[in-house]
Amino acid sequence: MECIFCKIVAGELPSKKIYEDEDTLAFMDINPANPGHALVIPKKHYENIFDIDEQTLKQIISVTKKVAERINEKLKPEGLNILQNNGKRAGQLVNHIHVHIIPRFADDKVLFTYQKADVDDFDRIQKEITVETPEEEPFEEEKKEEPRKETISRKWRKDF
Ligand code: 5GP
Ligand code: ZN
Repeated sequence: MECIFCKIVAGELPSKKIYEDEDTLAFMDINPANPGHALVIPKKHYENIFDIDEQTLKQIISVTKKVAERINEKLKPEGLNILQNNGKRAGQLVNHIHVHIIPRFADDKVLFTYQKADVDDFDRIQKEITVETPEEEPFEEEKKEEPRKETISRKWRKDF
């Protein structure tokens, strides 16, 4: 077994665990971007977002929320980033899917930057990546929710 996170799950490598259930594990990142930087992983090996099944993904997201809430309550950061890298180009170094929970503090050294790219073919790209709405009945809870509001802010809309 080559994967370091599989070794952590198997107890062959030590880790500072902060949550564990049958399918999911959360532990402290060995090289934290900030104090409290944690990782959430499925115990079973999946490489990335494309590889993992939806049920397991939901489980790790649900644990991410639990752990994020705990970090928020106890460490009282001023913000918190949830990050999940897919592929080398996106900064994925460990090929066992994991969600980063990174508490943020004033004047910390964490940098996530992106610059506005020149995109001429917005319309073509929009068509290409538009996902069809599934036709199944919504869950009961979703039916009761307010209709979703427009999510693109005015600031961005003027660019379209
Ligand atoms: P990635 O760049 O793949 O999204 O993030 C991998 C993360 O795993 C890094 O933040 C790195 O510090 C962390 N990491 C790598 N090896 C170990 C390890 O053996 N133990 C723990 N706890 N974290 C690790
Ligand atoms: Zn693994």
